[in-house]
Amino acid sequence: MVLLDRSTLMVVFAVMSLTMLVLFYFDTYRESRASFAAWWCGAVASFFVGASLYFLGEVQDVAWTPGVGNGVMVFGAGCVWAGTRSLADRRVTPWLLGIPAAAAVAVDVTVRYSDNARIGSIVLLALMGSAIGLASVELWRERAHSWPLVRSLAIATAVCAFYYLSRMAGLAVLGPADPLFQKVFGTGVTLLMAMILLVVVSSSITSLSYAQRTENLRELAYRDGLTGLLNRGEFMRQAQHRLRTNLAAGVDTAIVMADLDRFKGINDRFGHDAGDGVIRAFAEACRLTVRSMDLVGRYGGEEFVLLLDGVDAAEGVRIAGRINAALAEHNPLPNGTDAPTASFGVVDAHDRATGLPRLLRDADRALYQAKSAGRNRAVIGLALAGNQAP
Ligand code: GH3
Ligand code: MG
Ligand code: MG
Repeated sequence: MVLLDRSTLMVVFAVMSLTMLVLFYFDTYRESRASFAAWWCGAVASFFVGASLYFLGEVQDVAWTPGVGNGVMVFGAGCVWAGTRSLADRRVTPWLLGIPAAAAVAVDVTVRYSDNARIGSIVLLALMGSAIGLASVELWRERAHSWPLVRSLAIATAVCAFYYLSRMAGLAVLGPADPLFQKVFGTGVTLLMAMILLVVVSSSITSLSYAQRTENLRELAYRDGLTGLLNRGEFMRQAQHRLRTNLAAGVDTAIVMADLDRFKGINDRFGHDAGDGVIRAFAEACRLTVRSMDLVGRYGGEEFVLLLDGVDAAEGVRIAGRINAALAEHNPLPNGTDAPTASFGVVDAHDRATGLPRLLRDADRALYQAKSAGRNRAVIGLALAGNQAP
């Protein structure tokens, strides 16, 4: 570091942040449009502008550039913090970031030509260290996104915040000319730290946005767009796997087919959108009723399929009754209209190594019996055919 002078390092840092910004903008931000990627673009752009201003101050001796550079750097650190908040869907008020940035400029301009010139740098480091430290805390609290990636980002930002705050303490206690301060916290080491952070955060955020995009695509591929339930293909895949493991472990499993009653009439009377609302309400009634390990899928238009874990057919019938009760409680049709209902066919998968397609056919036959018997009920298929729930 000693071999490279301050201005060279500033140019290297500025060129590196500009390169990062261009790469990150075109490769990651434009693809994902994620708000945390936008904030990171703001941070890298600020670091580029800040480093350019420092460089200008260094070589041209322009009086105002270091102070404004400090403000821009603080704004950049604020963007890092805002980005981590938006990652966790927490609220960010962009204009608030201007306050610490303006404070950094004001302090620096006030003290630069006084005996206490170092106060400008102390305030800069305190604000940057705090913003990046807060970013680390946000990342540490974050649970929703790709876990190891977020953890490594939290550690990188924590190390960086610790360094900035230690530099601040070193500056206050030892002063800028002290040899120990120069060795540990000199401009060279500080810029090197900033470069490492730039690379680590950029690559982590790129990986994070790829992970998020892959997750979104997986959701699109596996979920039904109207209800958010599993789509038919995904239900079949998961249910087949679950049936095999439950059968091997001797765990009861019920398969349930459901079909909304007189749904054509609902569409005709209230319109297709209201029909869609009933489909969504039924999906919600299922979600409210079943447990998290159960599988619920949209099988077709207004037909649904469920796999109930650890449940026999008789219990499956009771659960079907609870789904209709939940649908009645959250009736999506206009006031004064009878709540929609559904009919169910239930089969016991226990003791029957017949495979899912056969179980679904049996459940469908039982569902047909429930319709013939007057609808708004559940019928158990095959072995106990004819049993009805009230
Ligand atoms: P049943 O009680 O015998 O089931 O009578 P039904 O009128 O419900 O008859 P069926 O189950 O055959 O109804 C299917 C109707 O569901 C036909 C179609 O117009 C409607 N449908 C299918 N998919 C959708 C959808 O996504 N949205 C809406 N609004 N309607 C749909
Ligand atoms: Mg139908
Ligand atoms: Mg129907």
